[in-house]
Amino acid sequence: MVIGKKFNNMKKYTLIGLLIIICIQGFTQGNSLPRVKILATGGTIAGAGASADRAGYKAGALPIDELLSAVPQIHKIANVTGEQIASVGSQDMTIAIWEKLAVRINQIFENNEADAVVITHGTDTQEETAYFLDLTVHYKNAVVITGSMRPATAISADGPKNLYDAVTVAANPSSRGRGVLVCFNESIFDGRDVTKISTTKLNAFSSPNTGPLGQVYDGKVEYYTTSIREVNVGSPFSVKLDTRLPKVDIVYMYADASPGLINCAVSDGAKGLVIAGVGNGNFNKAYMDAISAAVKKGVIVCRAARSVSGRVVLEDEIDDKELGTIVSDDLNPQKARVLLMLGLMNTGDKAKLQEYFFKY
Ligand code: ASP
Repeated sequence: MVIGKKFNNMKKYTLIGLLIIICIQGFTQGNSLPRVKILATGGTIAGAGASADRAGYKAGALPIDELLSAVPQIHKIANVTGEQIASVGSQDMTIAIWEKLAVRINQIFENNEADAVVITHGTDTQEETAYFLDLTVHYKNAVVITGSMRPATAISADGPKNLYDAVTVAANPSSRGRGVLVCFNESIFDGRDVTKISTTKLNAFSSPNTGPLGQVYDGKVEYYTTSIREVNVGSPFSVKLDTRLPKVDIVYMYADASPGLINCAVSDGAKGLVIAGVGNGNFNKAYMDAISAAVKKGVIVCRAARSVSGRVVLEDEIDDKELGTIVSDDLNPQKARVLLMLGLMNTGDKAKLQEYFFKY
């Protein structure tokens, strides 16, 4: 009897001991996972359609909790928490939402609320948001943007996999100090160089000048190259929630274009203009005259190119010194606009602005 009781007690204590060890292990393991904060802004990744086989859908309809519930595996790679910043299709992205994101991300890292941030975002203007944040987030912690081409309700939706991959990339220590990254369809791109190249295909992003920085596959992250542009800590650009960025418009050049839109932008109060020029950022005589007049009124005009790759060369076919223009280097027009808006907050000096384009 006595021996039996002792044996029972031993069993009881061993069991309690085991339970304590399991709890401690679980607790320390959970705590040792990187903390990733997901900031949701809407987009097709949060899109819902009437049926799985129909293409029509409403972007940004689903809240962050529903996106996360589609990928329970995510909780094995990171301590994930979510926050809804906006619920828009990214065609409706605004500077106010960019500022909200920049302010919140800087605050998250300043307060040590998370080790890394993932942003879910529509794909249409994802590249612009990526570059804006690249210039205005001042921490080395990883910031990774993703989205999807198919809504959450579609057959073979790509959102859950992209979200899982983005968290994998964000949680990986080798993603620190690389500026804002875009993770899409198993590729990792530099936020500065990436652009959307397809209207509907899953392989929707590319970096035409540099290629992807790396890949994520089967939960493993591999980088093959680095971006050499200064970002994060070295950036001179800052925004607050109420920062009013100067108006910068983009005007497209095409054969036999007339300059009405340039004049229109100037009389509408544009402080800067980006010309999506042909070839090496070229334009016709009519544009030349309108641009010259705009420059004389104090508008900063930046020559970019509608060409898919390459850089716009200063003083090539166009005499920039004579015309008073600057060039975007290898930034596409929509990214050149982002840099010109932020640059104009700091200076109106053309040489300084040109320096920004060669540096950032
Ligand atoms: N129009 C959508 C958006 O940018 C497309 C997408 O997310 O793929 O929000």
